[in-house]
Amino acid sequence: MNLNCHVVITEKCHYCSKGRNPHEVIHLPGGKLLCNRCYEWHRRAMNLLAKGEVPPGCQECGLKIEAMQEVNARGDKPLYLHPKDGVYQVLCGKCSDAYVQKRADLYRSTQYGRSQKLI
Ligand SMILES: [Zn+2]
Ligand SMILES: [Zn+2]
Repeated sequence: MNLNCHVVITEKCHYCSKGRNPHEVIHLPGGKLLCNRCYEWHRRAMNLLAKGEVPPGCQECGLKIEAMQEVNARGDKPLYLHPKDGVYQVLCGKCSDAYVQKRADLYRSTQYGRSQKLI
């Protein structure tokens, strides 16, 4: 028996799957856990939709808007909003593609999914 055992209690965020300090998670109705960081990004996504406030960059890889190379046909730098169980994620093109591949179950049957060649 190890008497020096140090117990760290973390609660797993449903959205980013990271273990968080219990003080940093919000318990949503329905029992899902949302960490402060994901909540912050959800608010940024809401502000983008409601007020056109551009978030600082990609929530997944941390790429800043200024550093993005990708520009769409309108000359804008695309950010992708993905709803996940009622909470929005803000992703750059690369992370968005990776996310769509991971969530083929969601997107496969959509026209968007077919355009991404999801099998
Ligand atoms: Zn999270
Ligand atoms: Zn990214």
